[in-house]
Amino acid sequence: MIKLASRMNGIGESVTLAITAKAKALKAQGRDIIGFGAGEPDFDTPENIKNAAIKAIKEGQTKYTPVGGIPELKDAVISKFKRDNGLIYSREEIIVSCGGKHSIYNLLQAVIGPGHEVIIPSPYWVSYPVMARMAGGLPRIVGAKESEGFKMGHTAFAAAITKATKAVIINSPSNPTGAAYTPDELKAIAQVALKNNLLIISDEIYEKISYDGFKVISIASLSDEVRKNTVVLNGVSKAYSMTGWRIGYAAGTKEIIQAMTNIQSQSTSNPASISQWAAVEALNGPQDFIGAMVAEFEKRRNAIVHGLNAIAGVKCSRPNGAFYVFANVSGLYGKKFEGKIIKGSIAFTNYLLDSAGVAVVPGEPFGDDDYVRLSYATSMANVAEGVRRIREAADRLG
Ligand SMILES: *Cc1c(COP(=O)(O)O)cnc(C)c1O
Repeated sequence: MIKLASRMNGIGESVTLAITAKAKALKAQGRDIIGFGAGEPDFDTPENIKNAAIKAIKEGQTKYTPVGGIPELKDAVISKFKRDNGLIYSREEIIVSCGGKHSIYNLLQAVIGPGHEVIIPSPYWVSYPVMARMAGGLPRIVGAKESEGFKMGHTAFAAAITKATKAVIINSPSNPTGAAYTPDELKAIAQVALKNNLLIISDEIYEKISYDGFKVISIASLSDEVRKNTVVLNGVSKAYSMTGWRIGYAAGTKEIIQAMTNIQSQSTSNPASISQWAAVEALNGPQDFIGAMVAEFEKRRNAIVHGLNAIAGVKCSRPNGAFYVFANVSGLYGKKFEGKIIKGSIAFTNYLLDSAGVAVVPGEPFGDDDYVRLSYATSMANVAEGVRRIREAADRLG
């Protein structure tokens, strides 16, 4: 038996991917499962983007590229930042990675080391604390309760800062809560970060997915000073339904981007050449796909929030963005089914999957056990049927 490295202590499979896999396996066995687990849009990648990839293959764009991305894609990313965020970057300030997740991983490897604390508002995306620990750092979790709109206030942020604090991660709109920060909230966070010379890690992967006219802004766009202390992370996965293509990108100072590029050059090398050409088309081509997708998501959000709130023991606030709701199901904890007590979000998730054929994701790995995450990246018919099944399952508990 070969012993694993000590860095593997406490590092397991991503729970969100595990539950999706379990639901898929049950489906493959012929079980009728309604899936609210998906962390990706249920739309097909737009045709123009697929065609750009096919063209790239036919034209022989099938070899290594520059590690940090082809100049055409870097320029498309630069145009995107200018157009959408009013942010001006040069090519040396941009890196393209194998998905947004890979950019975040490279960034934490580049800036976080032993003794460094990373402030992470909770609920958080499951990978942030793990990636901070993999870099040798210490995640410092700050509660961002539902009563505060699932957002970290600047006072709580300031109180969590120590001499060891190196960075803060802001994810707006958020996975798992869908909460999005207003410009004023971001200003207050940025002020505290600048005062303490912290790196702001801004994960803006859900930037394009917001509702009720909520305008998502990039924290980096607040001022030139903030921009210099910020690395913006984004990608094509969510906005263009391209999760399988594995293209994400980051923008920051030359020094940090160079360090991230060096890590990438010694590990993965460039992201897939074909996917890069597809991403050029995604960013430079027609953008109307996004509006149509978001309009559909908004209808489903309204339906799922309404349906869940009609269930006794379930409470669900109305998020401004992403395609998740984070529903409080703690009103059902302590109840029993066939003699077994529902103790927390993992027990509740297993109960729903086994007895109702509904896949949700437990809140525990996101930092709050009172909740489960439901993704409404699924059809309206599935939303209706899934909510109906959850209501019946909740009513069966005694
Ligand atoms: C989906 C997601 C990403 C990036 O995903 P990739 O598929 O790696 O591009 C980054 N952050 C959050 C919070 C996400 O949900």
